[in-house]
Formats: sequence, structure tokens, C-alpha cells
Amino acid sequence: MLETGNKTIEESRQGEAYGFGILGENNGYSKRFYIESYGCQMNFSDSEIVASILNGEGFGATRNLEDADLIFLNTCSIREKAEQTVRKRLTEFRKVKQSKPSLLIGVLGCMAERLKSKLLEEEKLVDLVVGPDAYRSLPNLIDEAETGTKAVNVLLSREETYADISPVRLNSNGVTAFVSIMRGCNNMCSFCVVPFTRGRERSRDIRSIEQECTDLWNQGYKEVTLLGQNVDSYYWVDQQSGDAFDFAMLLERVALINPQLRVRFSTSHPKDITDNVLHVMKAHENICKYIHLPLQSGSTRILQLMNRPYTREWYKAKVAKIREIMPDCAISADIIAGFCTEEHQDHLDTLDVMRFSAYEFSYMFMYSERPGTLAAKRYDDDVPESVKKTRLEEIVALQNSLSLESNQRDLGKNFKVLIEGNSKRSVEHWMGRNSQNKVIIFKKSDSKDLKPGDYVNVTVTDCTQATLLGEIVC
Ligand code: SAM
Ligand code: SF4
Repeated sequence: MLETGNKTIEESRQGEAYGFGILGENNGYSKRFYIESYGCQMNFSDSEIVASILNGEGFGATRNLEDADLIFLNTCSIREKAEQTVRKRLTEFRKVKQSKPSLLIGVLGCMAERLKSKLLEEEKLVDLVVGPDAYRSLPNLIDEAETGTKAVNVLLSREETYADISPVRLNSNGVTAFVSIMRGCNNMCSFCVVPFTRGRERSRDIRSIEQECTDLWNQGYKEVTLLGQNVDSYYWVDQQSGDAFDFAMLLERVALINPQLRVRFSTSHPKDITDNVLHVMKAHENICKYIHLPLQSGSTRILQLMNRPYTREWYKAKVAKIREIMPDCAISADIIAGFCTEEHQDHLDTLDVMRFSAYEFSYMFMYSERPGTLAAKRYDDDVPESVKKTRLEEIVALQNSLSLESNQRDLGKNFKVLIEGNSKRSVEHWMGRNSQNKVIIFKKSDSKDLKPGDYVNVTVTDCTQATLLGEIVC
């Protein structure tokens, strides 16, 4: 997620260009596509499906804009700022298009879905507008655009899960991968545009998920993250046998592929995460002890306006349950500052739930009114920008101290760490994560022949608010 998070990993990926990875630059394709992804992990994952479809059409990936015959932006509409970023980026393509008039520029994802053909009127540079359920039609749309006709497909589907398409793992570290298990969302939180841009909720065939995870394991991957807007409402019925599978069952099936394959998931709506899921997590060491549990607000009144069907007490009880079943489980949250009608007391309620939950980290945002949402229709966006900003700053400051305290509690502890690669700051250090999703940096050992994808035991010797620092345990 973007913006003022104390967790900046995803922020640094915004606008990331795909290109290398499995494909490489000299991969024998005669035509090239360039793709940048914005927003949530679902979009990054969708770009890998798009890459797979484009490969089938003879397009190879490139990281150089100038080499591209086709430029795609896979966009996000969640906040106004996300859309502004994309519009600004589009203007930067003008020069490239001038020097290569045959170049096609396409907008994919949530912005395409929200604005539809209006986007073509507003952004003259754009040749293709393709919604998140229409990627199979890309080959036809590209053909159409190549003839000079603007091409649009923003049809949403009740069935599309791209289950049979093998994503091309671009920009992969070869260790961790994302696997989409469901699409869309039925929740209709009043602030959120996702139900309008990504359509109704649908779950993917459990067999295709297991197969994709097994293939990843066989290719050497050591960690899969099961992805969806609301993974806990995963529900798939085998039409032949009539057998039904919920998220707890799926999680267990994936965990059983191999005990050395780590399993993560995101995102959990607090209303849907069941005790069954918590017990499955506890029972399998390879299911990571980390739950992202978006709070949004700590005020029951605001939660009601947000159409989040829980109270502050109910949410706290859920956190307590998680900590009771898995005392070592890390929890993170999404929090919105300054939703419509929010008073100072509502804000204090949010800070209170944050303290109670002792989140390991959070993604924190100022409320941004989105056209077409229930909140935009029903309520005034009446909290002044300056108040939103001050409240967000207080939320961030509290989270920073909670994160530091959480990291300090880890000093002296040993963790099993999956090595993901070199530390960004020094090739003499490894970067990895523990089960709780905390980043740990530690010095490479002369005596151990380690590589990315290996597990290693690390003792935490020091920390910052964002990172643990440690030493390999001999
Ligand atoms: N499905 C997840 C859930 O609610 O459990 C969240 C997915 S949403 C794409 C990611 C986060 O963006 C939300 O949890 C919310 O905090 C934030 N968000 C969504 N709409 C927003 C808006 N209009 N203004 C500010 N933040 C927003
Ligand atoms: Fe948006 Fe709510 Fe669905 Fe999350 S659960 S994607 S916040 S509507």
C-alpha cells in the first residue's frame, strides 16, 4: 500500500517496472512491452498474468521505455493521490510517443475500470483501457489499437479468476511469490472503491491454487502469499463432487505441500477470520504467524458509518483471541484518519485500539473521498485537511513507538529466518524475514555456505523501529 505507512516496502515498489526475472532482456521476442504497477499487491500479481498473456502474443518484457512497442500502467484508484500519480506518469510518456508514433499506451486495472472510456477523453495519449477482469481480451484489443482505433474493455465478470493462466514471475527474487486465490469484494465498506473497480467476490478453484503453489515449490520458491481482498471469505465448491472448501481448508492444503514451504496470506477482514483459521495457523509451523487485520477506525460510531460490521470491543476481542491462541503472532492494521464526521473522541478511540492491539506495523492513510462510493453519496467529507493531517501524524507517531517497542521485545530472541537476498545497504549482509514478517538484517557468515532461499537461525542483537539486526546462531 501507498502513503504514510511506517511500513515502506510496498511504497518503494510503486510504479515498479517489470522486465528481468525469468524473461530477461534478450529473450528472442520481436516486440516488447513495458509495464508499471501501482497500488496493492493484487495489481502486482495481475501484472504477472498480463505478462503471461502478452508472452503468448509474442511480446517480451523490457525495463527500457524506449525499447517498448507497448506501455502499460496497471493502476490503483483507492485514493485520489494514487490516480494523480498515474496521470502525472502518463504525461511523461508524451515524448516517447512523439519519437515513436506506433507506440501503444494502455491503462489497466482499477483506474481503467472506474473511468472507463472517459479516460480516453481525458488522456488523449491513451490507446487502450482495460479493466481487471478483461485481460484475456488483450490480444484482440492490441490488434484493434494497432489499426488506430481506441480499444476499451471494462466488463466485470462474476467468474473470471485467471485460474488456468500461469503468471510469469517477473522481478522475482526466486524465493517468495504471490498467488491470487480470489478476486473482487462484496463488502461495500462505505469509503472504498474496490467493489466498483474489481467487481463481485469469486474464489479460484482450489486445485489450481494447490498446483500453482506446488509448481512454485518445485521451482525452488520457499514462500507463497495467498492473496485476495478478503481471503477469509474464500469459498469454493467442486461442482462435480459437491465438496466445499473454506479458507481454513485451503490454508491447510497449501501448508501440507511441504513443511519447508512458508505460507502467508493477505488480507483478512476482521469479521471473517475464524477460530478455525487461527487453529490451522497454530497447528502448522510453516504457516507464518502474522495476520494483517485492518481496523480502519477504533470508534464504533465511525465503523458503523464505514459499514464495517464490528464494534471496537468486538475487534479488541478478536485481537485478544489471536494472541491467546498464538502468543507469538504479529498483527498489523490499516487505519484511516479523518473519515466523515470524525470527532476528536473518535480519533482517541482509534489510538486506544492501536495501543491495545500493539500492532507490529500499520498502513495509515488520510481519508480520501472516492466518487461513487457510499460515503461520497451519503456523507460530507467534513474533517478539514489540516485536522486529518494532524490526526494521521499522531497515528503514525504512536505506531512508530509501538513498532519500536515490539522490536525491542525481540532483543535476545532466536528466529528462523528465510533469506531473501542481500541487504539493500550492504552486500556483506543478508536480508530475510522471520515468521512474523519482520525484516532481519544480519552479517553473512564466513563459515556457512548460505544463499537466498535458505533458512537460518538468527539471534536479534539490535533493532530500529523498522528493522531487526542480528547474528547467525552457530
Ligand atoms: N480488503 C481489505 C480490508 O478492508 O480488510 C483492504 C483493502 S483496501 C484496497 C486497502 C486499504 O486502503 C483499506 O484497508 C483502507 O485502509 C484504505 N482505503 C480504502 N479506501 C480508502 C479511502 N477512500 N481513503 C483512504 N484510505 C482508503
Ligand atoms: Fe474495500 Fe472493504 Fe472490500 Fe476491503 S473489505 S476491499 S476496504 S470494500
